[in-house]
Amino acid sequence: MSDPILKIRNIESFYGPIMAIRGVSLDVHQGRIVSILGANGAGKTTLMKTISGVMDPEKGQIIFEGLEIQGREPHKIVHDGIVHVPEGREVFPLMTVEENLALGAFTRSDSHGIERDREMVFDYFPILKERRNQEAGTLSGGQQQMLAIGRGLMGKPKVMLLDEPSLGLSPLLVKEIFTILKRLNDEQNMTMMLVEQNASAALELAHDGYVMEVGRIVMDGTADELMKSEDIQNFYLGVQ
Ligand code: ATP
Repeated sequence: MSDPILKIRNIESFYGPIMAIRGVSLDVHQGRIVSILGANGAGKTTLMKTISGVMDPEKGQIIFEGLEIQGREPHKIVHDGIVHVPEGREVFPLMTVEENLALGAFTRSDSHGIERDREMVFDYFPILKERRNQEAGTLSGGQQQMLAIGRGLMGKPKVMLLDEPSLGLSPLLVKEIFTILKRLNDEQNMTMMLVEQNASAALELAHDGYVMEVGRIVMDGTADELMKSEDIQNFYLGVQ
């Protein structure tokens, strides 16, 4: 396989004295979907925040397209091509759907490209087109998640970091959103790193996976390998 588009090497991240990431290394290859599984508090969100520059690592390297980016400012990392769709969606409730999407393109100045990408987002999420003038706060949870993903796409990402896109959604909506993520991967060759507690949905979607426990990677493999692992079945998939 070619060189990974994103390489994480021995990252350590802290909240004050608390070491939340304890030497994590992983690879994300172009065009792959990589799922990070783990229980509450394992460090998945912290890992995402460290990659997107919201937190600086104390140690280690984050290498994107061959260049070290750890410690760069978050907007520069977006401009480089890594876009973070945060946990809890965090859309701006008093702004319209269209205004939220425009914010996703804040690092860009190619107005034609922005227009084209907005149409692409509306193509993937027709409900957002229908509700384009509606305040985001009035959307359902699933629609807000769609808007958060759409806003991420407006940043023209090479790699999308998705933190718990299934959180709080009904099984039907999870299926709908994961189907769209799969289409984005198939049709746009979009590389994705996905943090999930919904292990079965995440492994079904992903090509590769890592399992985190207490700030460390404890298992990795292809999604198929992980799905067949007895430990994963017992602890994450609820198979008896
Ligand atoms: P969740 O699914 O609950 O978001 P997670 O795997 O994403 O879990 P993190 O949120 O990254 O885990 O948390 C990793 C560790 O860092 C946990 O022990 C958590 O208590 C701690 N932590 C997270 N945020 C903070 C913070 N703002 N201040 C101090 N400690 C924190």
